[in-house]
Amino acid sequence: MSPEHFSSAVLDWYDCHGRKDLPWQLGINPYRVWVSEIMLQQTQVSTVLGYFDRFMDALPSVAALAAAPEDEVLHLWTGLGYYSRARNLHKTAQIVVAEHAGEFPHNVDALAELPGIGRSTAGAIASLSMGLRAPILDGNVKRVLARYSAQDGYPGEPKVAKQLWEVAERFTPHARVNHYTQAMMDLGATLCTRSKPSCLLCPLQTGCRAHFLGRETAYPVAKPRKALPQKRALMPLLANRDGAILLYRRPPSGLWGGLWSLPELLASDELDDLAARHGLTLGQRRQLPGLTHTFSHFQLAIEPWLIEVDAHGSGVAEADWLWYNLASPPRLGLAAPVKKLLKRAETELHTDTA
Ligand code: SF4
Repeated sequence: MSPEHFSSAVLDWYDCHGRKDLPWQLGINPYRVWVSEIMLQQTQVSTVLGYFDRFMDALPSVAALAAAPEDEVLHLWTGLGYYSRARNLHKTAQIVVAEHAGEFPHNVDALAELPGIGRSTAGAIASLSMGLRAPILDGNVKRVLARYSAQDGYPGEPKVAKQLWEVAERFTPHARVNHYTQAMMDLGATLCTRSKPSCLLCPLQTGCRAHFLGRETAYPVAKPRKALPQKRALMPLLANRDGAILLYRRPPSGLWGGLWSLPELLASDELDDLAARHGLTLGQRRQLPGLTHTFSHFQLAIEPWLIEVDAHGSGVAEADWLWYNLASPPRLGLAAPVKKLLKRAETELHTDTA
């Protein structure tokens, strides 16, 4: 779609479906738009509704906000969270009064210099309340544009953000920019939603690249996962003559807390200590295929060894240690990789005796 076609499709949709009666759209002015935009960061419209009216009743102008004690501002913000937003609001009101004679600057760059106002919020204030042609790129609009243009790369990266800003700039019309801005925010909030976009109802459907590719939810590209640190552990499966495996119960807190697990060793020489501790004589050993288990903050590369030991029976001298009978397993909580390794050990031992 050409930029003209794009914006007129968005504006036609706005005329039929856009939101026109939100409290900050009535008696519109930069102060009301600014407060609503700050409240709407990280907070849903339905939550903001009550807070906005209360805030405006108590502090109806930028001058009233600048003159209010900080405690009063924080009190009005209580429950909205992210309190730095309220403190920045207060600070910015004081700057607007002291340095701009109580008027918000009619210029996106100057607006974006005020505390708590980023480029997108500055664009929203400028376009919605001043009619200036200024693009915005809040979370909702970013999603629409990233999908429409099937933008590669994570938008948190400066290069990708720059490309999206160029797309936003290109499509922003010269006329009715206030309605266009509102429409784009509404489109993202109501149709082009995060997990289930309603493409069939979307005015941009015919030009939307993500929709054409059938890959709507692949955009915006998610933040790349950081490579997790790697740890390595040797896990001996000590098998007694009855084919039972020695397990121990992990401490109640921490990883796999309270679950039964295989001994975890850092190096093979710790194996002798383990055997001595339980009075075992180590016999034949063989390495089993390794496996990797991913925890939230690291990856554990497990090196399993199946080792025959010269012992019988099911008793061990220490509490929190037991011989786990593979043929008639007791009902215990096992960590997932341990369960897998016990299965492997069972197959190996079974193959040996078959
Ligand atoms: S067609 Fe679908 S994916 Fe594309 S902008 Fe519209 S709702 Fe979003």
